[in-house]
Amino acid sequence: MARPHTVLAGGTDFYPARVGRTIEEDILDISAIPVLRGISSVSTGWQLGATTTWSELLEADLPPLFDGLKQAAREVGGRQIQNTGTLAGNLCNASPAADGVPCLLALDAEIEIASSVGARRVPLGQFITGVRRTVLAPGELVVALHIPKPSHPARSAFLKLGARRYLVISIAMAAATLEIADGRIAAARIAVGACSAVAQRLPTLEAALAGAPLDRHLVDWVEQIHLASLTPIDDIRGSAAYRSDSAVVLLRRLLAGFAP
Ligand SMILES: Cc1cc2nc3c(=O)[nH]c(=O)nc-3n(C[C@H](O)[C@H](O)[C@H](O)COP(=O)(O)OP(=O)(O)OC[C@H]3O[C@@H](n4cnc5c(N)ncnc54)[C@H](O)[C@@H]3O)c2cc1C
Repeated sequence: MARPHTVLAGGTDFYPARVGRTIEEDILDISAIPVLRGISSVSTGWQLGATTTWSELLEADLPPLFDGLKQAAREVGGRQIQNTGTLAGNLCNASPAADGVPCLLALDAEIEIASSVGARRVPLGQFITGVRRTVLAPGELVVALHIPKPSHPARSAFLKLGARRYLVISIAMAAATLEIADGRIAAARIAVGACSAVAQRLPTLEAALAGAPLDRHLVDWVEQIHLASLTPIDDIRGSAAYRSDSAVVLLRRLLAGFAP
Protein backbone atom coordinates (compact mmCIF):
# COMPACT_ATOMS: atom_id res chain seq x y z
CA MET A 1 0.00 0.00 0.00
CA ALA A 2 1.25 3.51 -0.85
CA ARG A 3 2.56 5.57 2.09
CA PRO A 4 0.23 8.47 3.01
CA HIS A 5 1.62 11.76 1.73
CA THR A 6 2.11 14.94 3.75
CA VAL A 7 -0.18 17.63 2.38
CA LEU A 8 1.36 20.90 1.23
CA ALA A 9 -0.89 23.91 0.59
CA GLY A 10 0.73 27.37 0.88
CA GLY A 11 3.75 25.95 2.70
CA THR A 12 3.95 28.87 5.16
CA ASP A 13 3.75 26.56 8.17
CA PHE A 14 5.14 23.48 6.42
CA TYR A 15 8.54 24.92 5.43
CA PRO A 16 9.34 26.89 8.64
CA ALA A 17 8.76 23.64 10.57
CA ARG A 18 11.46 21.92 8.48
CA VAL A 19 14.23 24.51 8.42
CA GLY A 20 17.63 22.77 8.44
CA ARG A 21 16.11 19.35 7.74
CA THR A 22 16.10 17.36 4.53
CA ILE A 23 12.52 16.73 3.45
CA GLU A 24 12.26 12.98 3.03
CA GLU A 25 8.51 12.44 3.35
CA ASP A 26 6.33 12.10 0.26
CA ILE A 27 4.52 15.39 -0.45
CA LEU A 28 1.11 15.98 -1.99
CA ASP A 29 1.02 19.59 -3.21
CA ILE A 30 -2.68 20.55 -3.44
CA SER A 31 -2.14 24.20 -4.32
CA ALA A 32 -3.09 23.87 -8.01
CA ILE A 33 -6.14 21.61 -7.79
CA PRO A 34 -9.00 23.71 -9.26
CA VAL A 35 -11.82 21.93 -7.41
CA LEU A 36 -10.28 22.88 -4.04
CA ARG A 37 -10.23 26.61 -4.90
CA GLY A 38 -12.73 29.35 -4.38
CA ILE A 39 -15.52 30.65 -2.18
CA SER A 40 -19.13 29.95 -3.13
CA SER A 41 -22.48 30.87 -1.66
CA VAL A 42 -24.93 27.96 -1.33
CA SER A 43 -28.50 27.87 0.01
CA THR A 44 -27.33 26.77 3.48
CA GLY A 45 -24.36 29.13 3.76
CA TRP A 46 -20.89 29.43 2.27
CA GLN A 47 -18.29 26.95 1.10
CA LEU A 48 -14.61 27.87 1.24
CA GLY A 49 -12.39 25.54 -0.78
CA ALA A 50 -9.41 24.11 1.08
CA THR A 51 -6.86 26.14 -0.85
CA THR A 52 -8.62 29.48 -0.30
CA THR A 53 -5.88 31.91 0.70
CA TRP A 54 -6.17 34.76 3.16
CA SER A 55 -5.91 37.23 0.26
CA GLU A 56 -8.70 35.50 -1.68
CA LEU A 57 -10.89 35.75 1.40
CA LEU A 58 -10.13 39.47 1.71
CA GLU A 59 -11.02 40.07 -1.94
CA ALA A 60 -14.27 38.09 -1.79
CA ASP A 61 -17.63 39.83 -1.67
CA LEU A 62 -18.98 38.49 1.62
CA PRO A 63 -21.58 39.75 4.14
CA PRO A 64 -20.70 41.40 7.51
CA LEU A 65 -20.82 37.89 9.03
CA PHE A 66 -17.28 37.50 7.67
CA ASP A 67 -15.88 40.83 8.94
CA GLY A 68 -14.08 39.13 11.86
CA LEU A 69 -12.44 36.49 9.67
CA LYS A 70 -11.39 39.24 7.24
CA GLN A 71 -9.90 41.23 10.12
CA ALA A 72 -7.85 38.16 11.07
CA ALA A 73 -6.82 37.73 7.41
CA ARG A 74 -5.44 41.30 7.32
CA GLU A 75 -3.19 40.48 10.28
CA VAL A 76 -1.90 37.03 9.26
CA GLY A 77 1.76 37.69 8.50
CA GLY A 78 2.29 40.16 5.65
CA ARG A 79 0.97 40.25 2.09
CA GLN A 80 3.26 37.46 0.87
CA ILE A 81 1.98 35.13 3.60
CA GLN A 82 -1.64 36.18 2.94
CA ASN A 83 -1.18 35.51 -0.79
CA THR A 84 -0.06 31.93 -0.31
CA GLY A 85 -1.19 30.78 3.17
CA THR A 86 -4.56 29.04 3.29
CA LEU A 87 -7.34 29.04 5.85
CA ALA A 88 -7.42 25.23 5.87
CA GLY A 89 -3.63 25.10 6.40
CA ASN A 90 -4.05 27.38 9.42
CA LEU A 91 -6.56 24.91 10.92
CA CYS A 92 -4.65 21.73 10.00
CA ASN A 93 -1.43 23.09 11.50
CA ALA A 94 -3.37 23.29 14.79
CA SER A 95 -1.25 25.90 16.52
CA PRO A 96 -2.81 27.29 19.73
CA ALA A 97 -2.02 30.75 18.28
CA ALA A 98 -3.64 30.17 14.85
CA ASP A 99 -5.68 33.32 14.26
CA GLY A 100 -8.23 31.64 12.01
CA VAL A 101 -9.42 29.18 14.65
CA PRO A 102 -11.38 31.49 17.02
CA CYS A 103 -12.94 33.31 14.04
CA LEU A 104 -14.06 30.08 12.41
CA LEU A 105 -15.32 28.73 15.77
CA ALA A 106 -17.42 31.89 16.10
CA LEU A 107 -18.73 31.20 12.57
CA ASP A 108 -19.71 27.63 13.56
CA ALA A 109 -17.53 26.24 10.76
CA GLU A 110 -17.64 22.61 9.72
CA ILE A 111 -14.68 20.90 8.13
CA GLU A 112 -15.22 18.64 5.12
CA ILE A 113 -12.69 15.84 4.99
CA ALA A 114 -12.17 13.37 2.15
CA SER A 115 -10.00 10.34 1.46
CA SER A 116 -9.94 7.55 -1.10
CA VAL A 117 -12.53 5.68 0.99
CA GLY A 118 -15.10 8.40 1.64
CA ALA A 119 -15.97 11.82 3.04
CA ARG A 120 -17.11 13.18 6.38
CA ARG A 121 -17.87 16.51 8.02
CA VAL A 122 -16.61 17.49 11.47
CA PRO A 123 -17.49 20.63 13.47
CA LEU A 124 -14.36 22.75 13.94
CA GLY A 125 -14.83 22.40 17.72
CA GLN A 126 -14.04 18.69 17.33
CA PHE A 127 -11.51 18.95 14.48
CA ILE A 128 -8.51 20.21 16.49
CA THR A 129 -7.80 17.85 19.37
CA GLY A 130 -4.63 19.37 20.86
CA VAL A 131 -1.43 21.24 20.11
CA ARG A 132 -0.59 20.32 16.49
CA ARG A 133 -3.18 17.53 16.58
CA THR A 134 -6.35 17.09 14.54
CA VAL A 135 -8.78 14.27 13.84
CA LEU A 136 -7.27 13.84 10.35
CA ALA A 137 -6.28 10.21 9.76
CA PRO A 138 -3.42 9.27 7.41
CA GLY A 139 -4.62 9.68 3.84
CA GLU A 140 -7.32 12.22 4.74
CA LEU A 141 -7.47 15.68 3.22
CA VAL A 142 -9.48 18.76 4.20
CA VAL A 143 -11.37 19.68 1.03
CA ALA A 144 -13.57 22.58 2.23
CA LEU A 145 -14.77 24.69 5.15
CA HIS A 146 -18.52 25.21 5.47
CA ILE A 147 -20.04 28.26 7.18
CA PRO A 148 -23.76 27.94 7.95
CA LYS A 149 -26.13 30.84 7.24
CA PRO A 150 -27.19 32.37 10.60
CA SER A 151 -30.90 32.56 11.46
CA HIS A 152 -30.75 36.38 11.88
CA PRO A 153 -28.70 39.23 10.43
CA ALA A 154 -25.21 38.76 11.86
CA ARG A 155 -21.91 40.55 12.22
CA SER A 156 -18.56 39.33 13.46
CA ALA A 157 -15.37 40.88 14.78
CA PHE A 158 -11.85 39.80 15.74
CA LEU A 159 -9.14 41.31 17.94
CA LYS A 160 -5.61 40.10 18.46
CA LEU A 161 -2.98 41.12 20.99
CA GLY A 162 0.67 40.79 20.01
CA ALA A 163 3.94 42.30 21.15
CA ARG A 164 3.67 44.69 18.17
CA ARG A 165 0.97 45.60 15.66
CA TYR A 166 1.86 43.38 12.66
CA LEU A 167 3.82 40.22 11.83
CA VAL A 168 3.46 38.83 15.29
CA ILE A 169 2.30 35.64 16.99
CA SER A 170 -0.81 36.29 19.08
CA ILE A 171 -0.50 36.47 22.86
CA ALA A 172 -4.28 36.27 23.03
CA MET A 173 -7.08 36.79 20.54
CA ALA A 174 -10.86 36.88 20.60
CA ALA A 175 -13.59 36.53 18.00
CA ALA A 176 -17.32 37.13 18.23
CA THR A 177 -20.33 36.63 16.00
CA LEU A 178 -23.55 38.30 17.09
CA GLU A 179 -26.91 37.59 15.50
CA ILE A 180 -29.19 40.60 15.95
CA ALA A 181 -32.99 40.77 16.03
CA ASP A 182 -35.06 43.82 17.13
CA GLY A 183 -32.03 45.56 18.62
CA ARG A 184 -31.17 42.59 20.82
CA ILE A 185 -28.69 39.74 20.60
CA ALA A 186 -30.56 36.73 19.28
CA ALA A 187 -27.48 34.51 19.46
CA ALA A 188 -23.82 35.00 20.35
CA ARG A 189 -20.83 32.87 19.45
CA ILE A 190 -17.65 33.92 21.22
CA ALA A 191 -14.22 32.26 21.09
CA VAL A 192 -10.81 32.96 22.59
CA GLY A 193 -7.48 31.73 21.18
CA ALA A 194 -3.90 31.42 22.48
CA CYS A 195 -5.23 30.97 26.03
CA SER A 196 -5.59 27.17 25.92
CA ALA A 197 -4.11 24.32 23.89
CA VAL A 198 -7.03 24.67 21.48
CA ALA A 199 -9.07 27.86 21.01
CA GLN A 200 -12.38 27.61 22.84
CA ARG A 201 -15.93 28.92 22.64
CA LEU A 202 -17.19 30.52 25.86
CA PRO A 203 -20.69 29.04 26.32
CA THR A 204 -21.48 30.80 29.60
CA LEU A 205 -20.71 34.24 28.13
CA GLU A 206 -22.70 33.33 25.01
CA ALA A 207 -25.68 32.37 27.20
CA ALA A 208 -25.37 35.56 29.27
CA LEU A 209 -25.41 37.68 26.11
CA ALA A 210 -28.46 36.02 24.55
CA GLY A 211 -31.33 38.51 24.71
CA ALA A 212 -29.15 41.44 25.81
CA PRO A 213 -29.85 44.80 24.16
CA LEU A 214 -27.23 45.83 21.62
CA ASP A 215 -25.99 48.94 23.42
CA ARG A 216 -22.88 50.35 25.06
CA HIS A 217 -23.49 48.24 28.19
CA LEU A 218 -22.55 45.05 26.31
CA VAL A 219 -19.03 45.27 27.79
CA ASP A 220 -20.46 44.83 31.30
CA TRP A 221 -21.50 41.25 30.49
CA VAL A 222 -17.90 40.00 30.31
CA GLU A 223 -16.67 38.61 33.62
CA GLN A 224 -13.56 36.60 34.44
CA ILE A 225 -15.75 33.64 35.45
CA HIS A 226 -16.80 33.24 31.80
CA LEU A 227 -13.19 32.39 30.97
CA ALA A 228 -12.88 29.70 33.65
CA SER A 229 -12.40 26.89 31.10
CA LEU A 230 -9.30 28.54 29.60
CA THR A 231 -5.84 27.29 30.60
CA PRO A 232 -3.36 30.01 29.56
CA ILE A 233 0.35 29.26 29.87
CA ASP A 234 3.42 31.28 30.87
CA ASP A 235 5.84 31.66 27.97
CA ILE A 236 8.23 34.13 26.41
CA ARG A 237 5.35 36.18 24.99
CA GLY A 238 3.40 36.62 28.22
CA SER A 239 2.47 35.15 31.59
CA ALA A 240 -0.69 33.14 32.17
CA ALA A 241 -2.09 35.97 34.30
CA TYR A 242 -1.37 38.53 31.57
CA ARG A 243 -3.04 36.33 28.96
CA SER A 244 -6.05 35.89 31.20
CA ASP A 245 -6.45 39.62 31.83
CA SER A 246 -5.82 40.38 28.16
CA ALA A 247 -8.56 38.01 27.07
CA VAL A 248 -11.08 39.88 29.24
CA VAL A 249 -9.95 43.24 27.85
CA LEU A 250 -10.09 41.94 24.26
CA LEU A 251 -13.59 40.56 24.77
CA ARG A 252 -14.82 43.86 26.25
CA ARG A 253 -13.31 45.86 23.37
CA LEU A 254 -14.73 43.41 20.87
CA LEU A 255 -18.25 43.76 22.28
CA ALA A 256 -17.91 47.54 22.57
CA GLY A 257 -17.31 47.58 18.81
CA PHE A 258 -20.77 46.10 18.17
CA ALA A 259 -22.65 48.88 19.97
CA PRO A 260 -24.45 51.29 17.62
C1 LIG B 1 6.25 35.05 8.50
C2 LIG B 1 5.02 34.29 8.92
C3 LIG B 1 4.02 34.97 9.58
C4 LIG B 1 2.84 34.28 9.98
N1 LIG B 1 1.89 34.98 10.66
C5 LIG B 1 0.80 34.33 11.09
C6 LIG B 1 -0.21 35.02 11.83
O1 LIG B 1 -0.12 36.24 12.07
N2 LIG B 1 -1.28 34.31 12.27
C7 LIG B 1 -1.43 32.97 12.01
O2 LIG B 1 -2.41 32.37 12.44
N3 LIG B 1 -0.49 32.29 11.31
C8 LIG B 1 0.60 32.93 10.85
N4 LIG B 1 1.55 32.23 10.14
C9 LIG B 1 1.36 30.80 9.91
C10 LIG B 1 0.79 30.43 8.51
O3 LIG B 1 1.07 31.42 7.55
C11 LIG B 1 -0.73 30.18 8.54
O4 LIG B 1 -1.05 29.24 9.53
C12 LIG B 1 -1.25 29.73 7.17
O5 LIG B 1 -2.64 29.90 7.13
C13 LIG B 1 -0.92 28.26 6.89
O6 LIG B 1 -1.47 27.89 5.63
P1 LIG B 1 -0.60 27.14 4.51
O7 LIG B 1 -1.50 26.93 3.34
O8 LIG B 1 0.67 27.85 4.24
O9 LIG B 1 -0.31 25.76 5.24
P2 LIG B 1 0.87 24.71 4.93
O10 LIG B 1 2.14 25.21 5.49
O11 LIG B 1 0.86 24.30 3.50
O12 LIG B 1 0.34 23.48 5.81
C14 LIG B 1 0.25 23.58 7.22
C15 LIG B 1 -0.11 22.20 7.79
O13 LIG B 1 -1.43 21.83 7.41
C16 LIG B 1 -1.43 20.66 6.61
N5 LIG B 1 -2.43 20.93 5.56
C17 LIG B 1 -2.52 22.06 4.81
N6 LIG B 1 -3.63 22.02 4.04
C18 LIG B 1 -4.22 20.83 4.30
C19 LIG B 1 -5.42 20.20 3.82
N7 LIG B 1 -6.22 20.78 2.92
N8 LIG B 1 -5.75 18.97 4.31
C20 LIG B 1 -4.95 18.37 5.23
N9 LIG B 1 -3.82 18.91 5.73
C21 LIG B 1 -3.47 20.14 5.27
C22 LIG B 1 -0.01 20.48 6.10
O14 LIG B 1 0.31 19.12 5.91
C23 LIG B 1 0.79 21.08 7.26
O15 LIG B 1 0.92 20.13 8.30
C24 LIG B 1 2.72 32.89 9.71
C25 LIG B 1 3.74 32.21 9.02
C26 LIG B 1 4.88 32.90 8.63
C27 LIG B 1 5.96 32.15 7.90
